[in-house]
Amino acid sequence: MREDLPIIEDARRPARREKNAGEEIRKSGAPPAGGRPGRRRGKPGPGGFHRTLIRRKRLLLPFLFLAAVLFFLLPRWFRGCGAAETEDARGAYRFSPRESSALPDREEEGESGVPSPRPIPAEEQDPLLLVNRDHPLPADYVPETAALRYGMASSRLCLDDLQDMMDDCRAAGLRPLICSSYRSYEKQEELYRNKIKFYQDRGELPSEAIRLASRVVAPPGESEHQTGLAFDIVDEGYQLLDEKQERTKVSLWLHENAVKYGFIVRYPPEKTSVTGIIYEPWHYRYVGKEIAEEISSSGLTLEEYLKSGREE
Ligand SMILES: [Zn+2]
Repeated sequence: MREDLPIIEDARRPARREKNAGEEIRKSGAPPAGGRPGRRRGKPGPGGFHRTLIRRKRLLLPFLFLAAVLFFLLPRWFRGCGAAETEDARGAYRFSPRESSALPDREEEGESGVPSPRPIPAEEQDPLLLVNRDHPLPADYVPETAALRYGMASSRLCLDDLQDMMDDCRAAGLRPLICSSYRSYEKQEELYRNKIKFYQDRGELPSEAIRLASRVVAPPGESEHQTGLAFDIVDEGYQLLDEKQERTKVSLWLHENAVKYGFIVRYPPEKTSVTGIIYEPWHYRYVGKEIAEEISSSGLTLEEYLKSGREE
């Protein structure tokens, strides 16, 4: 009993209660920690067993409620990298037709009623478009996209190759998971602002909050996810975005094979000074099959490849 109490109290905290309200529960709802043990050791009086049973039931109910809440919320919380495609292991990587048809509606008109920019048709999109700190995209750069499962989206330009790559990776007995895909300028802005707010809430000055946020989240326009040609793909068995990702079976397979489908590992470890981005073994960028082979065999980054082309 004594051991049960703190667990239940702690566990109640995330259940969307105000901090103060939570404290109140601890003060009034839970019996004083010192009061119980003595009584527990003593003989239960008449009906004591019954009371204990009721007490246990009372404690059990919030616990069950919390377990249910966590059951539904946890997958969403982990969406940072994304439990987005977990169900895919059972089937091929297929797109939902319903989502596909729903997508254009969203793009035609923004929430404010202001018409959104017309998406760039796949045949007009440049697969070699360079996006980084020095080459930001304008807010109205919107590629023509197709919806993937679980809210993900891909530029139509690389859709078939992406599909083939995911299918073949799965056919090799692996479980790849796309946890980040097309991200609109607005979405990037939202992520960026949230991160700045996060640091400000921790007491940082606005300028410092911006500096710190920029290190973790690309400012709007500066993420190549806005092209719809970049994807973060992890192993379903290890979904953290850190360097250990490169040792997963999925990463080993993709690092060797992605190039055949037109994708490159965009931010290699030895090129952080060129790309300005840390080593990201999970981030793949579509550039087309031919160029992917060229870039991969030359050992250049996209920045260097484009620069060498201009100098020739
Ligand atoms: Zn990425």
